Amino acid sequence: MEDNRPYRIPKPKGLTEYVLQHCQRQAYLIFSEKEEKIICTRCGAEFPLQKMPWIRHAPDGRRPERDAGFLEEMCPHCRNTGLPKNIRYGRKSLRDYGRIIWMRAYGKATFLEVDRFMIDYTDPHPQVYYDATQQIRLTKETQERWDRDDGWFGTFGWYRVKKIGLKAPPKAYGYSDWHDHLYDVAVGTDLQYADVDTARFDSGRWDENIEISRLIRYMTDFLKHPATEILEKSGFETLVMNRAAGLRSRYLNMRAKDLRKILKVNGADVRALREEEPSIGFLESLHQIRKMAPWAEVRDVSELDAIANVYINSQKMDMVKERTDVSKLLRRLLEETRATGDHVTLNDYADYLEAVIRLGRRLDKKTLYPKNFLRAHDEAIEEAEEKKTTIDAANFAKYQREITGMEGPQIRGDLLIRPAKTPQELRNESQALNHCVRTYIDRVAKGQTSILFIRKVKEPDRPYFTMELNSSGEMVQCRGRNNCGYPKEVGEFISEFMKEYKKARVHA
Ligand SMILES: [Zn+2]
Repeated sequence: MEDNRPYRIPKPKGLTEYVLQHCQRQAYLIFSEKEEKIICTRCGAEFPLQKMPWIRHAPDGRRPERDAGFLEEMCPHCRNTGLPKNIRYGRKSLRDYGRIIWMRAYGKATFLEVDRFMIDYTDPHPQVYYDATQQIRLTKETQERWDRDDGWFGTFGWYRVKKIGLKAPPKAYGYSDWHDHLYDVAVGTDLQYADVDTARFDSGRWDENIEISRLIRYMTDFLKHPATEILEKSGFETLVMNRAAGLRSRYLNMRAKDLRKILKVNGADVRALREEEPSIGFLESLHQIRKMAPWAEVRDVSELDAIANVYINSQKMDMVKERTDVSKLLRRLLEETRATGDHVTLNDYADYLEAVIRLGRRLDKKTLYPKNFLRAHDEAIEEAEEKKTTIDAANFAKYQREITGMEGPQIRGDLLIRPAKTPQELRNESQALNHCVRTYIDRVAKGQTSILFIRKVKEPDRPYFTMELNSSGEMVQCRGRNNCGYPKEVGEFISEFMKEYKKARVHA
């Protein structure tokens, strides 16, 4: 096929050997009984069949006495494993596909090319064919990206893409593997002072889509913004690597040529920041925190970040902002954190504030900025909790009376019925009968429904059946142990009760 790449740069020396060595999904030890030899498809070495005489026993080279997992043999030359394969069988349709990314210096320019490759095993020394799909050309003056467009019906062409980055790996190209890449950045290019190796390896996980994307971002950044080199050389490599990883921040001015302007801080801050080896996240925190607490120093940032940003939603934050001087509050919380070692967060403070408001306390300085915040917090929350329980219980009794119209038990034959008096009674009933009526406490306290106990007159304290009567005066359910239904006599008892109840309700 005609070479129509935008830049016809030659492939690096040894690319094919590299692909065969590193990028075969399955390598083979192809053996010929006629020629009494074995060929390794990884390293290309030929050696006598006598070295592995056992592999000839099966027609396809497999060893029937062994498990499928142990079919591979080791090439004595390159010490890689390969699947034994008889030269006479099944190699015609044998192919492997993948992708190789390589780099090459050319004058001042650095090229990066992405090739698809195909390995063809028709010849026992396999052939590798290449098909370029992307080229990137990087110099100080211009950064170019060219992608190949695989059109319909076999048409294709190259087009320039503005955003410099790695093209997404192909999806519909047989099998596609993300292979190791070659790189070759020579002295004399515009990138000769760039720290390409660090950019390339700055990650624990090997995935060349991530690695090469990072590398491309770093190289582009280095060429486009002199600030990259300034940051690198003055102890801010983390910021550069964060940018290579794709992070951006409006608190980094990459067009500036002076550290103070690049970092948007004053000289003292620059010195303090250098000690911190800050990440972009740290820089963002510094600026965010200074919006709330202008007095914050670089060394306060980590602690203030933990105090101010952990689990606080905007509603709570608004409440705090409305009632307090946040700058002063943060100073107090920081002081307490440092003095006591307790982690006192703005979120805790918001809970505290909510509690004292609910308790109706006067929001004076003593309440808003308590001396020992953590103690004040615990006390206020406990008190508010108690108050809520009292209110719940009072409402519970009130609504039970209102809906059922009853104060005490009604007896009919052997059975009696009465409203539950307290939330605790409901919990006990729930536990005794193993049903879920305890979850109704809230709804009863809100007047949405009511709960009545049906018991045997002889055993008035022993839970028997539990009935729900809603606020419209309808029986919703009646359950016994483990949510069981009720027997005939209970059914009759209930319908008698409901008849009376409805009559009374109409007259009430
Ligand atoms: Zn080998």
